[in-house]
Amino acid sequence: MSDCVFCKIAAGEIPSNKVYEDDRIIAFHDINPMTPVHVLFVPKEHICCANAINEDNCDIVGHIFSKIPAVAKELGLENGYRVVTNCGKEGCQSVMHLHFHLLGGKQLGVGMG
Ligand code: AMP
Ligand code: ZN
Repeated sequence: MSDCVFCKIAAGEIPSNKVYEDDRIIAFHDINPMTPVHVLFVPKEHICCANAINEDNCDIVGHIFSKIPAVAKELGLENGYRVVTNCGKEGCQSVMHLHFHLLGGKQLGVGMG
C-alpha cells in the first residue's frame, strides 16, 4: 500500500525507533507513547486490521506473539504488560495497518474501554 505509513516504516522509507525486525515483522517505539514503554508490533504484509485476519494469514499473529516476550524482557517489563489491537472506527484504530500495542512500564488500570 503506497500511502500506508506502517508499510513505509516496514520498507525503511520512513524512519522508526526500531526494537526488533525480521523478514516478516517490525517492532518500534510508538511516536506518541501512552505508557512509559509503548511499542508497536507490525506485520510487513499489509493487513488492514484484526477484522481481516483469516486462515490464510493468521500465522503472522502467532509469530508476533512469539516475539513479544523477548522484547518485553529487553525493555524491562518483568512485572507484566498489556497487548492491544484496535480495530475499526469504534475500536479507535487510526492507522489502518494491523498492529499490536505493547504497553507497560507502570501499573496499568483495569479498564478496557
Ligand atoms: P491505533 O490508534 O491503534 O491505530 O494506533 C496507531 C498508533 O501508531 C498510534 O499510537 C500512533 O501514535 C502511532 N504512530 C503513528 N504514526 C507513527 C510513526 N510514524 N511512528 C511511530 N508510531 C506511529
Ligand atoms: Zn500498510
